[in-house]
Amino acid sequence: MYFCIIIDCGEMNIKITYRRTRRLSMRVVSNGDLHISAPRFTPKRAIDQFIRDNEAWIQGAMQRQLEANRKRLSFYEQLPLETKELARAAADRLDAMIKPMLLKYTELMGVHPQKITYKPTISRWGACNKKTGVISFSTYLLLLPEWCVEHVVVHELAHLVEPNHGPKFHALMDRYYPRWKEARKATRALIHNS
Ligand SMILES: [Zn+2]
Repeated sequence: MYFCIIIDCGEMNIKITYRRTRRLSMRVVSNGDLHISAPRFTPKRAIDQFIRDNEAWIQGAMQRQLEANRKRLSFYEQLPLETKELARAAADRLDAMIKPMLLKYTELMGVHPQKITYKPTISRWGACNKKTGVISFSTYLLLLPEWCVEHVVVHELAHLVEPNHGPKFHALMDRYYPRWKEARKATRALIHNS
């Protein structure tokens, strides 16, 4: 259930989810919206009060979220992709880096992707459709050190075997790219500390 209310720090979207919980909780999500989790049948006025009581916290959390978004943006802005030519040249550079990795790991892992595409996605490094065998990589991988790119390549190839991020998936990662946790951490740190 979604609705919008106005509180002192300006207009924001507030999403309230009623669930089996004993207390009210809230968090500010990456787009700046406020998500509230409430016990079922909580009256609206109790939620309004909860928001009013936590106004200072909400403002602080929104500020931190804005700052994090600004950092994230400045990270991606290091690779300008505004024109078709820039995007094409970047995709070619990434393709040259990724091809040898694909050769190595498709053979090692015994997997056969049908098609590889490159898109300037900032929300995810890669995507794999197990059914169609199509893997797409973010052109922004060019901003990562090679060993972190390799981690993403192995991650997406592993999805050709195992679609979910469960124990089976992690076992594949342990086997074919033992430094996966370290690579994931280094990648996140790059974005948040740029
Ligand atoms: Zn995944």
